[in-house]
Amino acid sequence: MINFEYTRAGTIKAASEARQKDSSAQFIAGGTNLVDLMKKGIIAPERLIDINGLPLKEIKSDPKGISIGALVPNSVAAENEAVKKQFPLLSMALNAGASAQLRNMATVGGNIMQRTRCSYFYDINLPCNKRKPGSGCAAIGGYNRMHALFGASDQCIAVHPSDMCVALAALDATIHSTNTKGEKKIPFADFHRLPGNTPELDNNLQPGELINHVFIPANSYNKSYYLKIRDRLSYAFALVSVAVALEIREGKIIKAALAMGGVAHKPWRLTAAEQLLIGKSPTTDLFDSVAQLAMQGATTYEHNAYKVKLGKAAIMEALTKATR
Ligand code: SF4
Repeated sequence: MINFEYTRAGTIKAASEARQKDSSAQFIAGGTNLVDLMKKGIIAPERLIDINGLPLKEIKSDPKGISIGALVPNSVAAENEAVKKQFPLLSMALNAGASAQLRNMATVGGNIMQRTRCSYFYDINLPCNKRKPGSGCAAIGGYNRMHALFGASDQCIAVHPSDMCVALAALDATIHSTNTKGEKKIPFADFHRLPGNTPELDNNLQPGELINHVFIPANSYNKSYYLKIRDRLSYAFALVSVAVALEIREGKIIKAALAMGGVAHKPWRLTAAEQLLIGKSPTTDLFDSVAQLAMQGATTYEHNAYKVKLGKAAIMEALTKATR
């Protein structure tokens, strides 16, 4: 690790200004991903701006929805009574992520900002367009078992690693951020990016912008489930995951939200599949049709074709578990 300057931000505005003045600076809170990136030489910020003292640790709930501060630890958000009661999907997704120790350290803002776990991104001896733009993508011709099925480009086929973000995508959350000019709202669907020709950019946050909180609007879903399929039961990133939220009244699906993790550079919302559910009774045949539709258009690479079959099975299982 190379030397860096360490400062503590006293206010949100000061943090934002300090970051905007110094393009190599990084905000640090829990540090559960950032410190690894620094230790492995993937990033080398000249300055760390510690934001742990900022007033971004509140969870506020009212009839319109819930606001979760960027510095709320993942474990606290997962066990919050209002989150568990009103947004059980989010609580399940949070508890599916990482280990208990990591959930205690990692913050909600950091979870949103975490970087891909593509193994080539973490190996500084190999080409990676995300780490070093223009150097190539070692995963495309390499071992790509964990990589994307949707929305990838010829420059990057990495996937977003978060579980929490898959639930936030399904729940139509909004990111509230601050920059030097004031506050800004970003719909969750517009926050993370597809790789395109700029795989080095994970999201649309501008330099100097700091996430303040995430807002999740109140909803009428009465059934939900988060299913994560991984190589081992604890502390592993998703091969595929599925977030399901449904409103079922008198045996019919009135409203549906479906999103997948582990299949794209951002949480992948399944809008066509959602539409297919509306107005119908929840049956195995319907879930099968929904799963088939959801996986249409998947592009596979040498080692990840298994994810298409796995994705279909995961959607079927998540819908079945949500509705039983
Ligand atoms: Fe880098 Fe993306 Fe290729 Fe992985 S998939 S090596 S992160 S460019």
